[in-house]
Amino acid sequence: MNKQHSIYHLATAGVQGLVPYQPGKPISELERELGIGDIVKLASNENPLGPSDQALEAIQAVLPELARYPDGNGYALKNALAEKLAVDTSQITLGNGSNELLELVARVFLTPSSEVVFSQHAFAVYPLVTQAAGATARVARAKNHGHDLDAMLALINSDTRIVFIANPNNPTGTYLQERELQDFVLGLPEHVVCVLDEAYYEYVQQQDYPDSLTWLGSCPNLIVTRTFSKAYGLAGLRIGYSLSSTEMAELLNRVRQPFNNNALALAAAEAALQDTQHLHNTLEVNNAGMQQLMQGFSELGLQWIPSVGNFICVDLRQPAEPVYQALLQRGVIVRPVANYQLPNHLRISIGRQQENLFFLDALRAVLNDVR
Ligand SMILES: *Cc1c(COP(=O)(O)O)cnc(C)c1O
Repeated sequence: MNKQHSIYHLATAGVQGLVPYQPGKPISELERELGIGDIVKLASNENPLGPSDQALEAIQAVLPELARYPDGNGYALKNALAEKLAVDTSQITLGNGSNELLELVARVFLTPSSEVVFSQHAFAVYPLVTQAAGATARVARAKNHGHDLDAMLALINSDTRIVFIANPNNPTGTYLQERELQDFVLGLPEHVVCVLDEAYYEYVQQQDYPDSLTWLGSCPNLIVTRTFSKAYGLAGLRIGYSLSSTEMAELLNRVRQPFNNNALALAAAEAALQDTQHLHNTLEVNNAGMQQLMQGFSELGLQWIPSVGNFICVDLRQPAEPVYQALLQRGVIVRPVANYQLPNHLRISIGRQQENLFFLDALRAVLNDVR
């Protein structure tokens, strides 16, 4: 065999056209580039308080057992979740991050002749899993940066197999209210699976935010995904879950790898779930930080997209990329969102007070330089 030959053309058409997901820049990478420490990273919607101490203790306790395979059924964690959320354990599927669940859904339901509907500015993983399956994405225009359910409904046809809805959405932070979303979800045709991505569920305090689990009983094709990566501060361990009908969970289980959740993640997630004080502190820091950033943006004469998550998109009214680069030079990592068709915005994850202050000072200095 010729060692120089390319195998590119052997990949499926969907994979040939794929652009890999671009994660936020890691702190260690910027430290290497700049040769400095004390980097402030507000780029990946991580919990600035870190994980719960109880989760860390649970991890310690598991360390001596690491030669053994983890519990492939996640018995203890599923029971803890079932009790907290008043669902049956058979309705829960655990994933290697909730991202894995999005991929499992695609693998179960999509073929190259399927169509998938989601909104403009929606989470980047939806187009990725759609294209990897060779399916066709139908993207509905956003309304006021949020999901336009009427526009999404208009794109649904007999080939549609999945609708992805992030509530709230990342990167915009917009959310759909109970009434409008319930009408949409319960009105979907039977051949369409609805994925409600609630990665930021714990942060939302709005009264009209839906309790989507109440719809599971009447909607066998609904999947609600949640994660331990955001409010629970366990992004590095990779663990999330979905709630659905038992039948849906059984289908997802067929394509799931037998040990997709590692032992440390299972133990940490179970402990984190019990630490309500840490979650409470997380929300307090987030609320205060959100106020601080909005106040800072006001003082700079900048507008933003109102957000109910742990991040906020600010409108720089100029291309955001140079501002992003200049912030990096000052040791601040935020997230450009041009790949979400928001070229003038930057997404800032809410940090602790000092981090937010450091960012706002850097932003002020950078904007003075480029003006
Ligand atoms: C962060 C995020 C996720 C999931 O992340 P995991 O770490 O894989 O659980 C899912 N959806 C949205 C919209 C997100 O922002």
